[in-house]
Amino acid sequence: MPLEPVMKDDLGRVIDYLRISVTDKCNLRCRYCMPQEGVRRLSHEAVLTLEEIARVCRVMASLGIRKVRVTGGEPLVRKNIVKLSADIRELPGIEEIAMTTNGVCLAPLAEELRRAGLDRVNISLDTLRPERYARITGRDALKEVLCGLEAALSAGMAVRVNCVPCRELNAKDLEEVAELAESRPVDVRFIELMPIGCGARFQGISSGEILERLTARFGEAQELPSGRGDGPAQYYRFPGLLGRIGVISPISHKFCDRCNRVRLTAEGRLKLCLQYDHGVDLRELLREPEVSDERIRQRIAEAVRQKPGEHHFEGPGEDADGRKMYQIGG
Ligand code: SAM
Ligand code: SF4
Repeated sequence: MPLEPVMKDDLGRVIDYLRISVTDKCNLRCRYCMPQEGVRRLSHEAVLTLEEIARVCRVMASLGIRKVRVTGGEPLVRKNIVKLSADIRELPGIEEIAMTTNGVCLAPLAEELRRAGLDRVNISLDTLRPERYARITGRDALKEVLCGLEAALSAGMAVRVNCVPCRELNAKDLEEVAELAESRPVDVRFIELMPIGCGARFQGISSGEILERLTARFGEAQELPSGRGDGPAQYYRFPGLLGRIGVISPISHKFCDRCNRVRLTAEGRLKLCLQYDHGVDLRELLREPEVSDERIRQRIAEAVRQKPGEHHFEGPGEDADGRKMYQIGG
């Protein structure tokens, strides 16, 4: 049997996970992510076409990418996102396709996305209080998100909720968000706020503090061994909760030594680290007449070798990327 391709960087880390920001557009304006004063949109021509995105995925699957996550901006506002998901899922070598979404447009699309092969959906939800939700996101859409969550479960997808605890925005609401796991098979994950773009204007809450609060609310937790697909999350089983609670701690517990991911931005930059601009622009290459897959393969493999060793969000970073979270995809 032929050996499966494996892509490694110069530090020996296996890179098998690609996150794709399919658009810089979003139907929400989360205060820690999008500037309230408005954003400059990429022109239509600047954004990779669905065919270009699928081509990058095909080439990268042949290099060793096994898991793809579709994100944004908001991926569900991109036209024909269901078809793109199906096209990626069918590529030889791709074992899992997932999506990170704010969930506002999920309910009517959940069945179709499942049929297209979407295995998993991560829904971003920072509070269950309608007024606070509207204050954080700029839109009164909590009901739609909760319908989206139930629709994704009914459609048979694995569902996670991602919550970013923020001192100024949702600090009072975290136990309530965790309660989503009480009667549903949903993993609820708390992600430390990163000082990227507007995130730098707010104060995050550490995973340690979250765990203390949840222990006070639900009782002593059992720390779970990390399973396949858990990524950088550390999971816990709390008494009385059906789903697991996860914490992702890029600030208090860096996981760069285990990083297996690279990112493709909406305008076609393959980004090697969330913080730094290191990477390669694939758009021009993809648009060269008659460029071969082999040439794209070589360019990507060369770039991936240069992946930075670690981020330095905890201190003043040099050479930091000016892109905001909605441009990178989280
Ligand atoms: N619009 C989709 C959504 O909200 O799920 C996908 C894109 S959004 C950029 C992906 C994730 O990044 C969301 O869960 C969001 O909460 C998170 N995020 C945005 N800014 C962040 C920051 N500064 N630190 C940590 N997470 C952040
Ligand atoms: Fe949009 Fe997601 Fe950013 Fe909120 S976190 S503004 S939903 S891209």
